Amino acid sequence: MVNPVRSSMIFHEKEGKEARNTMAIRQIRLIGDEILNKECKPVKAITNRVTELIEDMFETMYESGGVGLAASQVGVLKQIVVIDVEDGNQYVLINPEIIEESDSQTGPEGCLSVPGKSGTVTRPNRVKVRAFDETMTEYELEGEELLARAICHECAHLRGQLFVDLVEGELVDVIATLDEDDYEEE
Ligand code: ZN
Repeated sequence: MVNPVRSSMIFHEKEGKEARNTMAIRQIRLIGDEILNKECKPVKAITNRVTELIEDMFETMYESGGVGLAASQVGVLKQIVVIDVEDGNQYVLINPEIIEESDSQTGPEGCLSVPGKSGTVTRPNRVKVRAFDETMTEYELEGEELLARAICHECAHLRGQLFVDLVEGELVDVIATLDEDDYEEE
């Protein structure tokens, strides 16, 4: 998922976290690619390939300025999600299941598979999800606001669902705001 409010201003510093040689940026599948509409299968065990996939997913997400990424977005139909909403945590959700939802939030949402677009989506403001981490240890995670939105957005990917189907009104173009002086005209 992209946070359209901030995505153009996010710069990921890799302080003290040198990218390992094995990490690789994977190609993000774009809307229209039928793999994005397929259901992902549960992960049964952590293999070297799964570990490598998770590392690559983080790398690919950071490179693209995203806050969440699902495995199907890099062409792998496994129930794996990575999330980093800059709260100091890197969440790995394997075989996630949302077990509680409450309240609601309505706001802009974007997706790395739908580049340059944003749309208004209503999501729960608070969710609890049960998942396995990268060591296949089961845990529960509670998220509010942006984290709740990211959990819902990424879990929907695992079911083959894109946010565009939930957009209220029209998808709009995200305008780059990196250099405001270049954009005098509206
Ligand atoms: Zn997405």
